[in-house]
Amino acid sequence: MIWNETFECMGRDELHLIQSSRLRETVERVYANSPFYRRKMQELSITPEDIQTVEDLVKLPFTVKTDLRDNYPFGLFSAPMSEIVRLHASSGTTGKPIVAGYTRKDLNTWSEILARTFTAGGCGKSDIFHIAFGYGLFTGGLGAHSGAERIGASVIPISTGNTEKQIQLMTDFGSTVLCCTPSYALYLAETIEKMGVKDKLRLRTGFFGAEPWTEAMRTEIQNKLGIKAYDIYGLTEVMGPGVSYNCSEQNGMHINEDMFIPEIIDPKTLKPVAQGEIGELVFTTIYKEGMPVLRYRTKDLTRLVYEPCPCGRSFVRMEKIKGRSDDMLIIRGVNVFPTQVESVLLEFPEVAPHYHIFVDRVNNTDTFEIHVEMRPECFSDNLSRVLDLSKRITHRLQSVLGIGPVLKLVEPNSIQRTTGKSVHVTDLRKVY
Ligand code: AMP
Ligand code: ZN
Repeated sequence: MIWNETFECMGRDELHLIQSSRLRETVERVYANSPFYRRKMQELSITPEDIQTVEDLVKLPFTVKTDLRDNYPFGLFSAPMSEIVRLHASSGTTGKPIVAGYTRKDLNTWSEILARTFTAGGCGKSDIFHIAFGYGLFTGGLGAHSGAERIGASVIPISTGNTEKQIQLMTDFGSTVLCCTPSYALYLAETIEKMGVKDKLRLRTGFFGAEPWTEAMRTEIQNKLGIKAYDIYGLTEVMGPGVSYNCSEQNGMHINEDMFIPEIIDPKTLKPVAQGEIGELVFTTIYKEGMPVLRYRTKDLTRLVYEPCPCGRSFVRMEKIKGRSDDMLIIRGVNVFPTQVESVLLEFPEVAPHYHIFVDRVNNTDTFEIHVEMRPECFSDNLSRVLDLSKRITHRLQSVLGIGPVLKLVEPNSIQRTTGKSVHVTDLRKVY
């Protein structure tokens, strides 16, 4: 079964008409309701009448993460709070998170695109979904949950953590579908092996995303869990998971183009790249009410594939994410920017702003270590003072980042200096 086949398989001409009409509606909506977008459009001397078809998209202003941060919390909303029925949030570049608001119609759209995702992976009402994405402000848990309910499956909202108990329930309840981050899938697989319960599992399918992963990881997950593993992509600013999804071909992710118009730009010139070239993925949401975004720069690098897919869906495919055009790290599913770390360190006069972040993956779990130099006048062998300082900084980092690093206070001048742009991160994981 293909969910809402009429959209997923419609001809490109018909899609163009729908996209153009939805784009016009979206631009009118943001111009009328969002002072932020009205001002941005006025700065470029454009009005909603200038936007008639998809080709006019390039006239519109870009939106970036800092626009959301600068207008925290609700400055980009295009619907009154009385119409907003759900809020989600994700990390911004410094202390404040970025916030997304959904109307009832938006939640309906979201569950629709996830229903498409799950049916594209061959799932239906007789499946039992084990949803081990985090529930809460993060979009993963509740997003996947709503799609699984929409297709009539039985849903286990297990969320993250307590891995052995998860596996116990997975075997007791006979879960057939697993949704989580790919690194957690590998961790689960390892624990299942250790517990010796692989033959008790009924899993046959998995949907994994929220962080980058390679084809090698896909093969490993499929082999270890004995399932087919599908990629699912999305971001809070645009909707959450389900913006694009693998079909049975597992070769690129179909973008829900009746809801989101993709562009690929050169992150330096901001001009569109030639068709098929790699660049930064940009989305304009055309069916959202709560927080539509115009030309949102995801900073994710990929390319679009327009060749027809053997599955019959006409939506364009995006290849696996190949990297980022900024320095955002995703550590244990949490977005971390070096600027966030820096802003915390600057709060402590005892340390210098010379630091280095080390990220690695050991036993399928991300490790996160920060080395920071102490100022010469504060550097001492008074162990209890150093420990106390280390504790205070770690605590503050944990509360700002949403994830706790291992902090090492190091000697003055021990972190390598660079003559050019300073390099603050060593990421040894092979995720792209
Ligand atoms: P968040 O808004 O916190 O869910 O983070 C969204 C970001 O997670 C995206 O911009 C990507 O960088 C990353 N991401 C989400 N899904 C995937 C995926 N399937 N593959 C690679 N990266 C992903
Ligand atoms: Zn396909």
